[in-house]
Amino acid sequence: MADTKARILIVGGGFGGLFTALELMTAGEVTLVSNEDHFLFAPMLYEYLSGEVEAWHIAPHYKELIDDRIRFVQGAATEVDFARREVEVAGRVRRFAYDMLVLGVGGVTNFWGIEGATEHALPFRKIRHADDLRRRMTDTLDRIPPDAAPQDTRDAATFAVVGAGASGVELATKMSDLLREGFRRRGLRGEPRVLVVEMGQQVVPGMDEEMRAVVEKALSDARVEVHTGTRVVSVLADGVRIEHGGVETEIKTAGVVWTAGVRVNPFIEELHVPKDRRGLVIVEPTLRVQGHENVFALGDIALAPDVAPILAGTAQLAFQESDLVAKNVRALLEGRPLVTREFVALGEALSLGTENAAVLAGGRVVSGVLARQARFALYTQRLPTWQHRLKVGSSWFLGGKSPRPLGL
Ligand SMILES: Cc1cc2nc3c(=O)[nH]c(=O)nc-3n(C[C@H](O)[C@H](O)[C@H](O)COP(=O)(O)OP(=O)(O)OC[C@H]3O[C@@H](n4cnc5c(N)ncnc54)[C@H](O)[C@@H]3O)c2cc1C
Repeated sequence: MADTKARILIVGGGFGGLFTALELMTAGEVTLVSNEDHFLFAPMLYEYLSGEVEAWHIAPHYKELIDDRIRFVQGAATEVDFARREVEVAGRVRRFAYDMLVLGVGGVTNFWGIEGATEHALPFRKIRHADDLRRRMTDTLDRIPPDAAPQDTRDAATFAVVGAGASGVELATKMSDLLREGFRRRGLRGEPRVLVVEMGQQVVPGMDEEMRAVVEKALSDARVEVHTGTRVVSVLADGVRIEHGGVETEIKTAGVVWTAGVRVNPFIEELHVPKDRRGLVIVEPTLRVQGHENVFALGDIALAPDVAPILAGTAQLAFQESDLVAKNVRALLEGRPLVTREFVALGEALSLGTENAAVLAGGRVVSGVLARQARFALYTQRLPTWQHRLKVGSSWFLGGKSPRPLGL
């Protein structure tokens, strides 16, 4: 196959798909299909919520990132015909033919079938989800009368975050800081209430012990109420029902935010490829889909062998996988044997409120304001394309990155 003519179709423009496309733009006719018009650097969605970063920093349009060596098609892929080597995209009459297919459509929020969760809980995976949550917090504060009693302000400004993994604790500390600042600015009495509800016995399960200690202190400093060993029974339009030790309690809330789980994209659920019981696509160590010589899968939808559990479902894994997929697509096109690689933990960096963060690198945990700066520096390096990194890096360096209070 002449590699310059190969049609390389990449479905999904996230950490896996976009970075693969950027690596492969000289390898053939590259088409990137994504249902959004922008990439999202999800690890900084919390900073977007607090206004520490702008949408253009972490969610640049694809047209800012790619040139005419990559054809961008906005639309949701709905079906793959493996025999004909074609992909159907919603709203497009013609199917997209491929010689090489890369699947990287990521995950969606998993509400685990909990009653009322789909209808009433707020997901937190997209820019629009952060916009919705910020609006909800602002509206909540705006509705509180200036002379309300402390108990009433607390009741009115109660938010629950479901899940105390990295996402839940990062979100809860950020929300608490934002709401408390909102109280101060409005001169409200008392303080808001942010709860984290976690079914397991500890926060940030699977994480380093030293990191957990830093997270627990940050939660306590941010006055976040932690409910471990607690199950969400149902989510209501104005609250949440939880169960702890066999006792059920209903708590009135202004919002319930769901961070407790990811499931495979529904598009993948429909595909006839080998999957594990969670619906993850089973790939070989080369990331080629079992039984499909010209199809690769990566990121949150793929189950690669020998990946450390701490890396599963992370951007750092998807990013490393994109490099391997790109190498192997080139190898196939050039008739060379496929290769494998080891995926390594690149360190943890958690945002813990608007003034605090924790970074685990080289086995050491650093926290506080310095860690917040280190996190920004670390993430600047991981943004796509050097041009974007330069723009964002200089904007943060020159313009700073202070939080934007709710309502502004
Ligand atoms: C709030 C949040 C914080 C996170 N923080 C961290 C962190 O600190 N560190 C870390 O390592 N990981 C973090 N993660 C996880 C990380 O973002 C994911 O593991 C990573 O994005 C997975 O990459 P992916 O390419 O598989 O999927 P994604 O990056 O989700 O990309 C999937 C892409 O496919 C598109 N798409 C979906 N369906 C279709 C379709 N049918 N057709 C076409 N396109 C489609 C989506 O719009 C998206 O552009 C976080 C995730 C979230 C939500």
